[in-house]
Amino acid sequence: MTGDTQMLSRIRIVLVNTTHPGNIGAVARAMKNMSLSRLVLVSPSRYPEQADVAFARASGAHDLLSAATTVDSLDEAVAGCRLIMGSSARSRTIGWPMLTPRQCAAKAVDAAGESDVALVFGTERTGLTNDELDRCHHLVQIPTNPEYSSLNIAMAVQVIAYEVMVASGQHAVNTNRGRLPATAEKFDGFMQHLEQALDDIGFSDPRRSDKLMRRLRRMFLRAQPDPDELNLLRGILSAAQGRKSMR
Ligand code: SAH
Repeated sequence: MTGDTQMLSRIRIVLVNTTHPGNIGAVARAMKNMSLSRLVLVSPSRYPEQADVAFARASGAHDLLSAATTVDSLDEAVAGCRLIMGSSARSRTIGWPMLTPRQCAAKAVDAAGESDVALVFGTERTGLTNDELDRCHHLVQIPTNPEYSSLNIAMAVQVIAYEVMVASGQHAVNTNRGRLPATAEKFDGFMQHLEQALDDIGFSDPRRSDKLMRRLRRMFLRAQPDPDELNLLRGILSAAQGRKSMR
């Protein structure tokens, strides 16, 4: 397990009294997409009786759903957690501190470095009761159309789990596919080659060359080429130079 995976495994998703087994499966799928792994079900209806419905909606997240635990009370579900956040579509009159999904995710990731964290979602029709909200340190609300604020529970889990994944830094892993931009020396070597090649093929006007080279340099700096890409470009330059000298 990498550090991030271990940290994310301390963040559990708790579903209270979910009525549709299909939603449980959809939540499992949403979680696995975002690298969360711990699902706790508090007295779900028709589950496991209709587990087939849940598993059908879980798609490739069967492992996560099979590993989910079922308990009788919210207290059991959040046992061991030092931070509990409840997700609610409604802003209540009593002053629970309300967080955005991004703020909630930052707090969850921060706390999960050292201890278990619970993100709690209410039953489909009525959401979390006041007693359940009393268990929470913070409430999180996903901003919506004010006239239609209630998301499907799996959609709500998806939005918050996405923010948790982004806050954990997991998403950074794939963005540059492990490539590193070339060093300054290698980049300058390419620029010198380019200048020479432009001269060789008769492209650059010596009077305008400084300005031209500066513009080209800025353009290539913007692209942050890696060593392989610079080699490719230099290969093209060499070919153009060779062809010119052959003529
Ligand atoms: N009317 C209920 C909606 C229940 S939807 C309510 O006020 O919460 C089932 C669960 O999905 C909710 O309990 C909540 O955990 C989550 N949810 C739905 N829409 C949400 C939103 N806009 N912001 C945060 N959580 C939401």
